[in-house]
Amino acid sequence: MTFPISDASPVTWPGPHPVRADVVVIGGGVIGVCTALYLAQGGQHVVLLEKGRIAGEQSSRNWGWIRQQGRDPDELPIMAEANRLWRVLASQTNVDIGLTTGGVTYLAVKAAEMEEYAAWLPHAKAAGVDSRLLSGAETAALIPGMSRSYAGALHTPSDMRAEPWVAVPALAGIAARAGAVIVENCAVRALDIAAGRVAGVITEQGRIAAPDVVVAGGAWSGLFLRRHGVAIPQLSVRATVAATAPLPVVHPGAATDDRIAFRPRADGGYSLAAGGFHELFVGPDAFRALPKYLAQLRADPFGTRLLPAAPRGFPDAWGTARRWGAEEQSPFERMRILNPAPNRAKVKALTRDFAALFPEIGPVRIASAWAGMIDTMPDVVPVVDRVADIPGLTIGTGMSGHGFGIGPGMGKILAALVTGDKAGHDLTRFRLSRFNDGSAMQIGPSV
Ligand SMILES: Cc1cc2nc3c(=O)[nH]c(=O)nc-3n(C[C@H](O)[C@H](O)[C@H](O)COP(=O)(O)OP(=O)(O)OC[C@H]3O[C@@H](n4cnc5c(N)ncnc54)[C@H](O)[C@@H]3O)c2cc1C
Repeated sequence: MTFPISDASPVTWPGPHPVRADVVVIGGGVIGVCTALYLAQGGQHVVLLEKGRIAGEQSSRNWGWIRQQGRDPDELPIMAEANRLWRVLASQTNVDIGLTTGGVTYLAVKAAEMEEYAAWLPHAKAAGVDSRLLSGAETAALIPGMSRSYAGALHTPSDMRAEPWVAVPALAGIAARAGAVIVENCAVRALDIAAGRVAGVITEQGRIAAPDVVVAGGAWSGLFLRRHGVAIPQLSVRATVAATAPLPVVHPGAATDDRIAFRPRADGGYSLAAGGFHELFVGPDAFRALPKYLAQLRADPFGTRLLPAAPRGFPDAWGTARRWGAEEQSPFERMRILNPAPNRAKVKALTRDFAALFPEIGPVRIASAWAGMIDTMPDVVPVVDRVADIPGLTIGTGMSGHGFGIGPGMGKILAALVTGDKAGHDLTRFRLSRFNDGSAMQIGPSV
């Protein structure tokens, strides 16, 4: 397969760029798209602005797992709702998004992992999620043909997957049919602030007046917000994916062990990745945020490889402008689509590991490889909050590597935050103030 969304993709949503709206949503990833969708379905005049293409960045490049398993307990009820919402949304799209209930399985190499999984299970039970432990023999029976034997597994039959590069543009289609105006190739340079509150946005095409703005800018949110004095310790890490050519079915669901994560795609191939491996390009934000990340580094000291500097134009590259005038070109329009090169050595290792894990599958040929920049927070949960100091501003960002599956749940919450309706979930954990109110960074308990 060739990766479907790039700078060369035709513009599906040219606008028109309106002069006013009830709500402007910045960012056409899964979070912005779902927020716009629920706002439009609720009768708001919403404009969704995307600097490149809908789902051009992380939201199309991810593994496509719609996963309740292993989630942070504060996210779990939202994720369980998102699971239900995905089914509803899949019936409203006019294309097949590949939504499949294949389950998710974490394969335990050591007995200690089984203990961690067992400790997490009560959270699943409390949220009504059907996760359970499998013995070594049950694991081998669930996924036959594996050359490794495992101590057991954590398995959630109701977890799903979808094809992200089809699904998120299809959700944008639902939003547009509900009345949302979507403008691609339209970077927001700055908020328009008047009398201390949001008055709208200034884009590369002009001004849009709006009393409410939602920032759902993925890896760019921190850069955008800092210009307005809102500091979030957001960083981005590179994650590489290898896509095989079609192969026999080894297992209909998604699974991961300590070396490799795999899931079948609708086209008959597998998407492969190295579960716990990420690469951080060190830049000024990384230095600034380091103290907040110490808890994460202690919990997983070898999970992230450091690289000296980000390529030109990346959000945390050394040369990326941190200040710009609202009438000048901004870093957002200088890079329409953040498209990191995949780690080729990792692609080779994944090919070898998959072939070794399933010796009877035959030759494994890689059809395509890509990478995405995952935006993350020190406590691996997002910021979903209104900004007290700037009335009219709402943030939904920092989905920390698991925002695709939870997208509809978070979009519904963000829409409710804007309209003042009940969010239906406890959002305390996701508050913006946790980074400066003296709170210790709390990671998990997630597995
Ligand atoms: C390799 C990989 C594997 C992953 N696997 C999974 C998985 O299996 N399951 C899962 O749940 N999650 C997964 N994730 C994480 C998931 O993809 C993200 O958490 C999610 O897509 C984040 O969505 P978002 O809308 O917040 O950000 P994004 O998708 O990054 O969207 C933000 C958008 O905002 C636009 N934008 C930014 N600034 C501006 C501006 N100033 N003006 C206009 N537009 C702007 C950007 O161009 C971008 O399109 C994975 C991520 C990667 C990279």
